[in-house]
Amino acid sequence: MPDSSPSAAVGIDLGGTSIKAALVSDRLEIVSRSAVPTDLRSQGVLLSAIERLVESVSKDTAPSAVGFGLPSQIDQRHGRVLDSTNVPLEDLDFKAEMASRLGVPVEIDNDANVACLAEWRIGAARGAQNVVMVTLGTGVGGGLVLDGRLYRGSIGSGAELGHMSVDENGPHCQGHCNSRGCLEVLASATGVMAAAQQIASDHPYGGLAAARAAGEDLDARYMIDRARAGDEEAMQVFAIVGRHLGVGVTNLVNIFNPEVVVIGGGIAAAGEALLAPTREEYERRVLRATAGARIVAAELGNDAGVLGAAALVL
Ligand SMILES: [Zn+2]
Repeated sequence: MPDSSPSAAVGIDLGGTSIKAALVSDRLEIVSRSAVPTDLRSQGVLLSAIERLVESVSKDTAPSAVGFGLPSQIDQRHGRVLDSTNVPLEDLDFKAEMASRLGVPVEIDNDANVACLAEWRIGAARGAQNVVMVTLGTGVGGGLVLDGRLYRGSIGSGAELGHMSVDENGPHCQGHCNSRGCLEVLASATGVMAAAQQIASDHPYGGLAAARAAGEDLDARYMIDRARAGDEEAMQVFAIVGRHLGVGVTNLVNIFNPEVVVIGGGIAAAGEALLAPTREEYERRVLRATAGARIVAAELGNDAGVLGAAALVL
């Protein structure tokens, strides 16, 4: 590698479909970037792919350190990945392994935590001291900034806000969670699809029922496009999802009394179709003493992961 620059780090955003990398300046500006599809064949293959990606993005400027946002539950005491969603990383001393492979200091955190860190430093929550972030995608992730610090819990696996149940008799959760009615299933892509099926069944002569009969699977991407075009049934779908999210956000605001709640992730692309019913449900329920939190869309989009990962070490 070329001479190390004290003012640049690499941020890696590891996801189930792609690994994104960026060389990031100390002002949290992206200098260069690269991405490859995630090779899921084995842990060893995946680690080698990450190593090559770091080398390719830092061929002109060697980074002082590398930060990782991982879709994982992490034990920060030992830099250890306990378990992961959609990637083959489990029971691995990730921090030590990558530091040894890359020859620079490494920090790791959960992907939702790094997104929260980025939105707090330079995005929708900049300037706040207390921030709740919820990321809505295949699953639902969470991040917390409390009293001006990213909060991780006793071992570093806290802030799993997606596993807050908002319906004790709701559908079974996904993955290793044994609970029911978690945001993870009700406000994720899964939740959007379930709500779309419900609206299609409630309106057998409506547009969604017709689309379903024509073979459309009413997935989240499709429903977001319909909502953005102002389709009435799609608005009803996101109203269902938004009410669930609003219950969760109310719980979080009552507990943490943040200045701002940031809603990010792919599902947040539904925009006001999702955020307006979320705010309505929140206004209806929130305690007067904790009310006043702004509920806003994330600003950094797909760059939140690499920026937040780099921010771990900058
Ligand atoms: Zn759950």
